[in-house]
Amino acid sequence: MSDNSIDISANLDIIRSTLPPYVALVAVSKFHPSEMIREAYAAGQRLFGESRVQELVLKKDELADLDDIKWHFIGHIQTNKLKQLMACRVDLIQSVDSVRLLEMIDDIAFKSGYVQKVLLQLHVAREETKFGFLPEEMTAYFEQRGYESLKATHICGVMGMATNTDDTDIVDGDFKAIRNVFNQIKTISPDLRGFDTVSMGMTDDYLRAVALGSDMVRIGSAIFGQRNY
Ligand SMILES: *Cc1c(COP(=O)(O)O)cnc(C)c1O
Repeated sequence: MSDNSIDISANLDIIRSTLPPYVALVAVSKFHPSEMIREAYAAGQRLFGESRVQELVLKKDELADLDDIKWHFIGHIQTNKLKQLMACRVDLIQSVDSVRLLEMIDDIAFKSGYVQKVLLQLHVAREETKFGFLPEEMTAYFEQRGYESLKATHICGVMGMATNTDDTDIVDGDFKAIRNVFNQIKTISPDLRGFDTVSMGMTDDYLRAVALGSDMVRIGSAIFGQRNY
């Protein structure tokens, strides 16, 4: 149930006022009910991020009347749920963490006759998550021009998370590492078109991320309050 002490509209205003106009704001609504998404929508928010396929399917259905709402998928993807995820036709899958998954996505998109936009997830944080490409794995993929065999996938950029720590030097180092891999890829593959998104920054660190070159932030708690897992 919606917590009445949380003013979603005011929270969005505060966050927007701190973001440069070129930074996209993904409202991470995972674990929060559809009615809170409606509140954010009423306050002008159109882009939402979810991390579990089941939950996304349910919310998409509950919010089917909001026809210009856009969904990003930001969670770990089990391959046995991929078909179900892609049937949701999310605008952007941010959490592609292996070449195998990328090729499976490409296959499904190709067979279904559309182009799927994705970000490749980088693993730079210490211990936070075991998911994502290591920087050298990701640059190797581009050096080997693996993406040239993709038929129906548009790689729009990279996504990453910083270490969950109060040590701002470590956090900044992680964001620089993410941005650096993105820059390297642009150098390796200058022919890549529409490779222009660096998704980094969450509630506790998004201002640091923006200062270090993020153009897409994924913010949950600062908009919707704490999640009850
Ligand atoms: C949950 C989540 C977020 C949002 O986290 P907050 O700290 O609540 O802003 C951002 N990105 C990913 C990948 C997440 O899983």
